[in-house]
Amino acid sequence: MGAPIPLRMHDGTAPADALGRTLGDLRISVIDRCNFRCPYCMPEEQYAHDHAFLRARERLSFDEIERLARIFVGLGVRKLRLTGGEPLLRRDLPELVARLARIEGVEDLALTSNGALLPKLAQPLRDAGLHRITLSLDSLDAAVFRGMSGGRGEAAQVLAAVAAAERAGFGALKINCVVLRGVNDAGVLELVEHFRGTAHVLRFIEYMDVGTLNGWRAEGVVPGAELRGRIHARWPLRPLPRHAASETAERWRFEDGAGEIGFVSPVSAPFCGDCTRARLSADGRLYTCLFARSGHDLREPLRGGESDFALRARIADIWSHRGDRYSERRAELRAAGILEHVEMYRIGG
Ligand code: SAM
Ligand code: SF4
Ligand code: SF4
Repeated sequence: MGAPIPLRMHDGTAPADALGRTLGDLRISVIDRCNFRCPYCMPEEQYAHDHAFLRARERLSFDEIERLARIFVGLGVRKLRLTGGEPLLRRDLPELVARLARIEGVEDLALTSNGALLPKLAQPLRDAGLHRITLSLDSLDAAVFRGMSGGRGEAAQVLAAVAAAERAGFGALKINCVVLRGVNDAGVLELVEHFRGTAHVLRFIEYMDVGTLNGWRAEGVVPGAELRGRIHARWPLRPLPRHAASETAERWRFEDGAGEIGFVSPVSAPFCGDCTRARLSADGRLYTCLFARSGHDLREPLRGGESDFALRARIADIWSHRGDRYSERRAELRAAGILEHVEMYRIGG
């Protein structure tokens, strides 16, 4: 590092990045393992039984995660999201949630999960202070869902997770559906019908070229606007304002009052200009973009005895140099052969 400590450190926020974006959100991956093998994220054939996932001592401990989270909050982060791989595979997760929930300045503490293990954990997570849950559900069709989980999961498990979250007192869930043309797009209206009239907000996410292993092809992407057209033809929609500029989803409400849906369209309508998200991998690397090739190691300085002040300066310095805007430059960068990105299961989306 060795760079001078950025001037605006004193007012409790990180300096804006090189494109003027502040630091607002931290996504924390707590484990790189997953109990599913979604072909768009962790295709089964790429992960042999001897694939080297992180060993426990390579992962940040709860003490280390909490310490870093406090530093990030000191730099302006207000939203924390726990993710994976599959975060519910991390032992004693409610304990980490309780620690993070106690950090002053955290306004939103959320979790993204495939839901398979949620029925047992929903209540302990709620009791620990988790605010919100996002679940992933790509199809209600049993065979399609099974295929999209790499043969490891069942749609019924996710519906059981929705019910468990409701019982535990999580009100409005977000339900993420990654849409792949010719794979699950025929089931979109069925999903909309299922969640219309509930408090839950279904969000359709464009299939992204994350990682290096998912064989992404532009033809597989169903643009959000196309999906919206299909849904609007059946249940007319009206646009809603975003809650915040940094929100990834475009919000729409059903004209008949049956609730809200969202579209996350990073391929057809990139939103890098408002991207305030930092990502921490389970082994303590800081990624400034979902499509970054590499991360900045925070574990070594953390374990090497660096002070909070120095770690804070290090993170502020990394952020101040951030110029990422991959989704806005996708076509140009792919044409230039820049195809190497961190795997999604390592930083969790
Ligand atoms: N395992 C958890 C889950 O699936 O919800 C959390 C981690 S997962 C990587 C986070 C989100 O990323 C999920 O909603 C998943 O559907 C989404 N995702 C994974 N690969 C994707 C891809 N290639 N394009 C778009 N979204 C993707
Ligand atoms: Fe696992 Fe989530 Fe990736 Fe699917 S999307 S393989 S559930 S980490
Ligand atoms: Fe943010 Fe990178 Fe996604 Fe753009 S491509 S919105 S900079 S994470």
